[in-house]
Amino acid sequence: FTALLSDPSLVCSQAFVGGKWVDAASGETFDVTNPARGDVIARIPDLSREEVAEAIAVADRARHAWAAKTGKERAAVLRKWFDLMMANQEDLAIIMTAEQGKPLAESRAEIAYGAGFIEWFGEEAKRIYGETIPGHQPDKRITVLRQPIGVAAGITPWNFPNAMITRKVAPALAAGCSFVIRPASQTPLSALAMAKIAEEAGVPAGVFSVVTSTSASEIGREFCENPKVRKLTFTGSTEVGRILLRQAADQVMKCSMELGGNAPFIVFDDAEIDAAVQGAIMCKFRNNGQTCVCANRIYVQDAVYDTFAEKLKAEVEKLSVGDGLDDGTQLGPLIEPAAIKKVREHLQDALDKGAKILTGGEAHPLGEQFFQPTVVTEANQQMKVATEETFGPFAPLFRFKDEDEVIELANDTIFGLASYFYAKDLSRVVKVQEALEYGIVGVNTGIISTEVAPFGGVKQSGLGREGSRHGIEDYLELKYICTSV
Ligand code: ADP
Repeated sequence: FTALLSDPSLVCSQAFVGGKWVDAASGETFDVTNPARGDVIARIPDLSREEVAEAIAVADRARHAWAAKTGKERAAVLRKWFDLMMANQEDLAIIMTAEQGKPLAESRAEIAYGAGFIEWFGEEAKRIYGETIPGHQPDKRITVLRQPIGVAAGITPWNFPNAMITRKVAPALAAGCSFVIRPASQTPLSALAMAKIAEEAGVPAGVFSVVTSTSASEIGREFCENPKVRKLTFTGSTEVGRILLRQAADQVMKCSMELGGNAPFIVFDDAEIDAAVQGAIMCKFRNNGQTCVCANRIYVQDAVYDTFAEKLKAEVEKLSVGDGLDDGTQLGPLIEPAAIKKVREHLQDALDKGAKILTGGEAHPLGEQFFQPTVVTEANQQMKVATEETFGPFAPLFRFKDEDEVIELANDTIFGLASYFYAKDLSRVVKVQEALEYGIVGVNTGIISTEVAPFGGVKQSGLGREGSRHGIEDYLELKYICTSV
């Protein structure tokens, strides 16, 4: 794939620590493979816990000078970083598809989306306003400052190798924090390419480091136990989020958690059915179902169930599966064999409990990491897919009778990230959007992600919000100053 790049130097095979490109002292590396072809595309340093501690020490030294800059100065650096990301959009997209598998069109969109956080929070850097409060006694003056929290550490997954990092690092840097990221070991190349561009944009040495390692739990421990780290930000499964929260408790560390979802996608009988079908396709099959906001349970009201199912089947059968680097591919491979195993497990469990295959249901002839996009009807709440996130191209259609029933079914989960519904009746729309216990509700749309809105979950889907003016709060502390005059 390097032959496709205008700037092959964006493929970096060293970690980026304290402004230097480094190998592991042990000489250990790990392989990055292209999920569509299975070939090794890079060997990346497998850093030790001690080397990650060093990255934290450098971040701690670098943060003071960075925080002392004016918001405008930090904004200028972030703006440059954004501009360079966009100037290199095509190369960054190719690198992403090569390591992650998503179709090139989706990778391009993710680079623009990811860079959007850098642009947005760069602008916010100038607007970290404090407060004055009328004193409680005649001699008292009360001022509230919002100051950077300190060194922030992040752990991110492989499904959005660029945007999951920028939505953390951009607000951190805008606030005046330094940041150490440990990207998923399946997709470090996107993170390293981003670091190379950050360096070129003038992000000072040590303010942003990328530590690559396969020892996720060791690095997680270092992030939680190192007293120099004041903030942990994580995107991944609820299971790992719980482990990290427990570990972070010893230091009473501030945590932001973007965890699993189990998104309901509801189609009411007054919905525009064609629009709902299109929304379901985008919401369910984007990134081949590997997003935490993908529809997991599709609830369709009785009267429109058969029509919706037929139309969805027709659209799903048009989706072209292939190597993300090939023109026209709409669904790439899944990230690894374990992902296919989970899709099969959910499908088999559903079939055992009465579901019927409408389309798909088989491995794809392209290879072991490909699966046919699959729709089943007659799904019910006893099936695994009703409670667990599939993270793959499997769309189960549940049938429901009325609003109250579907609201109860939709909310019957430990998760609360994204939810969607299609309806036209105004009273119904207002009632349902208010009743869904989710951090995000898409009404008559299947696509909700943008840097200008607060993304995050309730219940066991997480803590904190990323994006919008709220996204910077996770990297700031309030300081109340009481002055007697
Ligand atoms: P996913 O299914 O998206 O891989 P995970 O929660 O397993 O979700 O992984 C998300 C990120 O967390 C990945 O970068 C992974 O390597 C990392 N990770 C996994 N286990 C741990 C752990 N015990 N401590 C810290 N990070 C972990």
